[in-house]
Parts: sequence; structure tokens; C-alpha cells
Amino acid sequence: MVDTSAYKIIDHTYDVVVVGAGGSGLRATMGAAEAGLRTANISKVFPTRSHTVAAQGGIAASLGNNSPDHWTWHMYDTVKGSDWLGDQDAIEYLAREAPAAVYELEHAGVPFSRNEDGTIYQRPFGGHMQNMGEGPPVQRTCAAADRTGHAMLHALYQQSLKYDADFFIEYFALDLIMHNGKCVGVMAMCLDDGTIHRFRSQSVVLATGGYGRCYFTATSAHTCTGDGGGMVLRAGLPLQDMEFVQFHPTGIYGAGVLITEGARGEGGYLTNSEGERFMERYAPSAKDLASRDVVSRSMALEMREGRGVGPEGDHIYLHLDHIEAKVLAERLPGITESGKIFAGVDLTRQPLPVTPTVHYNMGGVPCNYHGQVVTVGPDGNPDTVVEGLYAVGEAACVSVHGANRLGSNSLIDLVVFGRATGLHLKENLKGGAAQPELPKDSADLALTRLDHFRHADGGSPTAEIRSEMQKNMQKHAAVFRDSKLLGEGVELLKSVNKRMEDIKVFDRSLIWNSDLIETLELDNLIAQANVTIASAENRKESRGAHAHEDYPDRDDKNWMKHTVAWFDGWGGGARGSGGGDVKIDYRPVHEYTLTDDIEYIKPKKRVY
Ligand SMILES: Cc1cc2nc3c(=O)[nH]c(=O)nc-3n(C[C@H](O)[C@H](O)[C@H](O)COP(=O)(O)OP(=O)(O)OC[C@H]3O[C@@H](n4cnc5c(N)ncnc54)[C@H](O)[C@@H]3O)c2cc1C
Repeated sequence: MVDTSAYKIIDHTYDVVVVGAGGSGLRATMGAAEAGLRTANISKVFPTRSHTVAAQGGIAASLGNNSPDHWTWHMYDTVKGSDWLGDQDAIEYLAREAPAAVYELEHAGVPFSRNEDGTIYQRPFGGHMQNMGEGPPVQRTCAAADRTGHAMLHALYQQSLKYDADFFIEYFALDLIMHNGKCVGVMAMCLDDGTIHRFRSQSVVLATGGYGRCYFTATSAHTCTGDGGGMVLRAGLPLQDMEFVQFHPTGIYGAGVLITEGARGEGGYLTNSEGERFMERYAPSAKDLASRDVVSRSMALEMREGRGVGPEGDHIYLHLDHIEAKVLAERLPGITESGKIFAGVDLTRQPLPVTPTVHYNMGGVPCNYHGQVVTVGPDGNPDTVVEGLYAVGEAACVSVHGANRLGSNSLIDLVVFGRATGLHLKENLKGGAAQPELPKDSADLALTRLDHFRHADGGSPTAEIRSEMQKNMQKHAAVFRDSKLLGEGVELLKSVNKRMEDIKVFDRSLIWNSDLIETLELDNLIAQANVTIASAENRKESRGAHAHEDYPDRDDKNWMKHTVAWFDGWGGGARGSGGGDVKIDYRPVHEYTLTDDIEYIKPKKRVY
């Protein structure tokens, strides 16, 4: 056991500590602070650099400004998009609350693009339809050109400064403090001076974003390392539905940079090496605006059957060259620029080379629609609440996206459930209430692990192990999967986890030690890579983003259930004896709605 007195610990007490300052974390921070709770926000990057800033296409809500719409249609599309793995009580909450959440953003200062009559402009997005899935496509996605996340994040940060929340910026959260099954605080390190901060709080909200960086090519920022998920696994709690990883159809070939689905929403289309608009074959009704899993798989099939473009036949063309230059400049200025910089292509005249790229994690920390983290209790109750712990945003699995998320449904998830979490905290906490002393060992888990990696002196540099993990995930947990690939992948990822015992950290200091921080991030990523591939290997069906070639059909009888998975890769918090095994159990899908206003939407075959 490490001598924790070697580290300077600074103590803080709050009612609520939110970890993460992306869209979800800021909205939850605002809600808690507005309710008069003493609130702290911890973020490893400056708030407006959180990955939410990169969101382009928009935010879904049934405002009905550009075509008829209704929240029940939005709910239907989300359930269908989830391939019936989403919880319908939570989806009803999302779709009902979405319009109010968008107007709230409008009033907070988000400069939405406008229609002639001054209302918020809405564009079509994949999988969003009119008339309970019957079609035609609906215009539901509210946008601020193709910089919606940027506009949202800046407005939310400005708003949250209005309330009395304390921001701990460029602080890295290390681990949760758990006591008798309850979360009682969180440990963090200040990146620029290496001081350790112990936060005691009535509740902790995890808003740490996704873990896209366990893959080699991802649209996610380098900071998307799933630190919240890592902390949850180390606390002995499970993650849910981790096998469902979304590939976005249009990442720029080679660079992985995202081209928003809004590009197809504005009329863009895909072609193969024969110049054919192949989506007409795979999704006769929605075509290029089918849901992301469907479009990504169709592209992968075209390439596999020899109709990919380029000398290696390993990408597809996205055409925007038929759209008026003025419209591109007005509605898609950001991607026009990205096309030029990252592919050297003038979008007004040439097609852009694209390929399916890892984009979003449907899985995450299981929670209910109040944001409360849940687990399978000792008595088998699958909705057992973990006291004191909440999760929101991409880090969470509410689950509204189920097996596949629809485009523009994440940004709305951030604000709807960020707000819901704030409301639940307001109703359930007493501001300034006395809190018990923290247990004596409260800092041990975090500091043992930190100290272990800080002095790690093996033969494998962090970057080497990371790239081994990323390449294995890219190959073995891709758009298409089969038993052989997944089985090998499980073993390979276990061995990458084992290799962490041999890691080498070069910088032993505590002042802005990026080598150490990247190692802690890698440790979080590896745990989730292992859980992802083990959960994928375990699921013997195809559903949403999980396309299993040996089990090509959805199997509702045996598999309409959430996977929950625990990881035992750590020995006593530091690296060591844990074998890297993943334990799997299940939670039932909520086959009921929140109110009598809408009936449970029964499963059917998913065609677009
Ligand atoms: C390129 C791109 C474009 C997208 N476009 C759209 C779109 O148009 N519409 C849509 O609906 N969705 C879109 N998405 C998805 C959506 O943007 C994300 O899912 C969402 O923004 C995630 O928000 P978040 O609040 O969960 O976390 P993030 O915005 O990822 O923020 C995570 C926060 O956690 C903090 N953090 C993490 N770990 C730690 C730690 N250890 N210690 C302290 N702080 C920590 C970070 O500092 C950061 O503040 C897009 C995603 C990408 C990558």
C-alpha cells in the first residue's frame, strides 16, 4: 500500500460534484446550482473544449417548423432506431421534453439558423420520419449551421457562470469514493501543480463523455477516453450495452474527421465505383437517410463486393457537388472547410472520399431517466439505485438509444437528461446538509493507482500499448463481426490488458505530466475495450449496430435484454493480479411507457 501522506491532499465539501463540462455536465451543473445546491464542476479540459463543441448537424425536437411533426413520431423513430433495445419510459420522456429543451437553449442564446418567418430552421436527419415511421422524412433537426454543438456549449457555459457553481478546470478525476455501496465523493488531481483534491459530496454526477478512442479511427476527440466508465468499473459497478458502438457512415477517408449527416439531410448522396446511388437498393424508402447502422453496413458491403472507390476500393464517394454553392456556404460551411483541409477536395465540384468511422457509444453507465445510476442488486433487482451517483450524456446508458442512436438524438439527450438530473437533485438533496466524515481509506484507491503508474518502469511505452488496443478493436469489433473474429478479439484484448503490467511511464513529475495522464486514460480505455468485446462476443444475434454474421437476425425471444458487464482487471486498484475477466449479466428492457398517452410500441422488423 502506498504511503498516501506523500501526496498533498486538499479537501472540499459540496452538495453536488459534476465531473465533466460537456453539454450534459454543464446542464446538470446549471440545474443543481440554480436549485441553491453548493455545486462543483470538475473538467480535465476547459469547458468549451469538451467534445460537444465538435457536434455539427443538430439537435432533434418535434417543433414542426419545417414539416408536420409530433413528439409521438419522434418517440416511435427513436424506439425503432434503437432496434427495440431502448427503454420506452425513458424514450417517452426524451421525446416529450425535447421541444421545451430546445426553446430553453434558444432563450439561453443559441444562435439557431432561421426560417424566413423567424422560426428555428430544421433539417432532415437519418431515421427521422413522419407518421409513426410511415414517412416521408420529417424535418426535425434544429441546427446552428453545421456548428450546433459549438453554439450550444458556449451558451451553456455562459449560462452556468451566471449561477454560483465552482469550476475546477484542468483537474483530472481519478476515482470515485465509495462507502458501503454509496458514492460519497470523488478524487481528482490538479494538472498544473499536481495537488490532489478530495471532494466530499452528497452526490456525484458523471458526465465524462464517450470512449471512442479505444478504436484506431474515430471522430471523437482524443479526450474521449471514457474516464467515468473506468471509475465505475473500478468501483465494482457494471457498464451496460457496451457491444453497441456506432460507426458514422461519413468519416473523411484517412483522417477520420466527421462529415455531418446533415450533409445528406441537405441532399447529399453516396455512390460506389460504378457511380451507382446504391442506398436506393438497401433502403428503398429512406435511401441515404436510413439510420446510421444501415448505411454503414451497406457501404461496407459495397466495398467488400468490390465496388468501393479508389485504388484499394476501400472508400465511398459522398456527393454534394450538385447542391448550390450558396446553400453549402450557408448551411454547411464547416464541412466545406473540412473537405478542403482533410481531403483536398472542393465540395462544390468534387465528391468526397468517406468511410464508416467510430462515432458514438450507445453503451455506458446504466441509469434511469432521473440520471440515477442503477445496477443489479444482491437480491437480483435490476433497478437497484446506487445512492449518491448519477450519470448523464454519452457516458450514460439511460437507455434511450438502445442498439443504435439516431443522428441529432445525442445533443437532445444531453440537455433533457442533464436537466432531469438537476431536477432530481433539487428534489432530493438538502443544500448544505451535514455530511458524515469520509472513511479513513477514502484516498487509497485513487492514490495507489496514481502512484503505481507514476513509477511504472516496464518495457512498454503507453503509446505502444494504446495502439495495440486500438488496432485490435478496429479489426475485431468492427461494423461486421463474427464468432471467430470476436473470440480472437477477446483473447487479444485480454493480453493487451495484461501488457499494462509492463507499462513504462517516462515522466515521474506531478507538474503537467501528460505521459501519466495518458496512461491513466489508457487504463480506463482498456477496461472498456475488454468489456465491449466480451459483451459483443456474448451477444448471439444481430441488433442495431451489432451485426453478427453468424447470427444475422434479431432474436427478441432470447436477446431483447440489456447486457450488464463487470471487469476484474485490476488488482486492488493498481495494476496487478486481476485476470481481466468480464462477468456478464442482464437487465430487462423496459417494455412500458411513462404515461397512458402512448402505448408500448411493439417490436417489428426494422426496414427503412
Ligand atoms: C465530431 C462529432 C460530431 C457530432 N455531432 C453530433 C450532432 O450533430 N448531433 C448530435 O446529437 N450528436 C452529435 N455528436 C455526439 C455528441 O456530440 C456527443 O455524444 C456529446 O456531445 C457528448 O457530450 P457529453 O456531455 O456526454 O460529453 P463531452 O462533450 O464529451 O464532454 C466530456 C467532459 O468530461 C470531462 N472529463 C472526461 N474525463 C474526465 C476526467 N477524468 N476528469 C475530469 N473531467 C473529465 C471533459 O473535460 C469534458 O468536459 C457528435 C459527436 C462527434 C464526435
